[in-house]
Amino acid sequence: MERYDLVVIGAGPGGYEAALEAAGLGLRTALIERRQLGGTCLNRGCIPTKALAHAAGLYAELSACGRFGLSAEQLRCDPAALAAYRQSTVETLRGGIALRLKQKKVDLFQGSGLVTAPHRVRVEPPQGGALELEAQNILVAAGAKPAVPPIPGAQLPGVMTSDELLEWGGPPFGTLLVIGGGVIGVEFASIYAALGSRVVILEALDGLLANLDRELGQSLKLLFKKRGVQVHTGARVEALEPAGEKGRLCCRYTEKGVPAECGADAVLLAVGRTPCGLGAFAPGVAPASEKGRLLVNSAFATSLPGVYAIGDAIGGAQLAHLATAQGLAVVRALAGKAPGLRLDVVPACVYTEPEIASVGLSADEAKARGLAVQSKKYPMSANGRSVLTGQERGFIKVVYDPAGRAVLGAQLMCARATDLVGEFGLAIANGLTVEQMAAAIRPHPTFSEGISEVLRSC
Ligand code: NAD
Repeated sequence: MERYDLVVIGAGPGGYEAALEAAGLGLRTALIERRQLGGTCLNRGCIPTKALAHAAGLYAELSACGRFGLSAEQLRCDPAALAAYRQSTVETLRGGIALRLKQKKVDLFQGSGLVTAPHRVRVEPPQGGALELEAQNILVAAGAKPAVPPIPGAQLPGVMTSDELLEWGGPPFGTLLVIGGGVIGVEFASIYAALGSRVVILEALDGLLANLDRELGQSLKLLFKKRGVQVHTGARVEALEPAGEKGRLCCRYTEKGVPAECGADAVLLAVGRTPCGLGAFAPGVAPASEKGRLLVNSAFATSLPGVYAIGDAIGGAQLAHLATAQGLAVVRALAGKAPGLRLDVVPACVYTEPEIASVGLSADEAKARGLAVQSKKYPMSANGRSVLTGQERGFIKVVYDPAGRAVLGAQLMCARATDLVGEFGLAIANGLTVEQMAAAIRPHPTFSEGISEVLRSC
């Protein structure tokens, strides 16, 4: 039986980065994956959706390029070429991961990994011929899968989760109905609206992006409205049914108690993701869990000795970069090193047009915690780069401690928000004050000048 210092189950950004780090720190490491390298993020999540978002953004920009003195006649979306671009992006990145694993001498096993006892993992390859591995430590990074809500009709043809919608690769729909106004729902709404679909969002809560600062969801709702995306909040979906016309669907729902219905050519279910960690354990050996998520302590240890779990499998914020950071922290601790990362400062990014990003506390969260904070907002309509590139309304908001002046949080909705948020993450992770952040000269003309402006107003 092969013996390893660390066996990692799941090769998403949590698992493969942990395996690379472990091998780099001198641990003999195995990585087990039943599907493709890269996990949800690379194959069915962040990367293919952001590739689509990039193409959709270009399409929308070129469609309206007359304002820049340009004309793009006969602009059209070729669904097959779009799918090929998306796929080649994924494959390039997948090849890069395979190369890094090989260079670091991580042993990669194709198949399902199953913890059969403490320190024991069985690999079950698709072609049969299971093998047993002995592991000093085991890291479960098994991810999550799209949740399918118990709505009558959720299994009808044309009703898809994000996995199936990405696979679909057909032309933009006539009407796409999106159930769920969280991150996945609004990202796909933004993409399909830009590609010319009619989009309707039904969200059960009273706002979009309910986990983020209220103003972000409110501003996005206004922008969507301007683009013809219908947003219904406080909407309870009752049932999905086939409609009269072939292939059409009808969704019955109540909006603030009033019955309503909506026709659609396709329906996206974007109502959250279910953790997969328990599937990595043989019956009878599963560690403590709650609603399918593995329970861990502050060191990511499960209740089973020598077994750790990270990422979507443990619930919380289901973000690729957080899973990576958690995996690095576990591996560094196993090698006797400090984590070297602030696991409590986690940027959240939404790849709509314009982008949305947030890190640290919002003013409402700070108040709920009894903290006396101040927040300042800078409208990006006053930023030169935003004006010259024809951006829509947007802002950068900073939350800070008025006494000690420490930066505590930021919320952004503007071009490149997902990159700009890194400056605030850096400041919060290192306890910088407003003045320390403001000391840096930011180049002109850039979107980042908006950061200098908001800090100047504090
Ligand atoms: P989510 O939890 O962010 O949002 C789901 C939304 O669906 C909620 O607002 C909920 O109120 C609503 N909902 C649930 N049941 C409903 C119903 N029957 N009718 C109407 N609305 C209903 O989940 P998600 O958007 O599916 O995303 C899943 C996870 O993946 C999240 O943790 C998200 O952060 C992560 N993710 C992140 C990114 C990113 O970082 N850019 C991108 C995609 C996904």
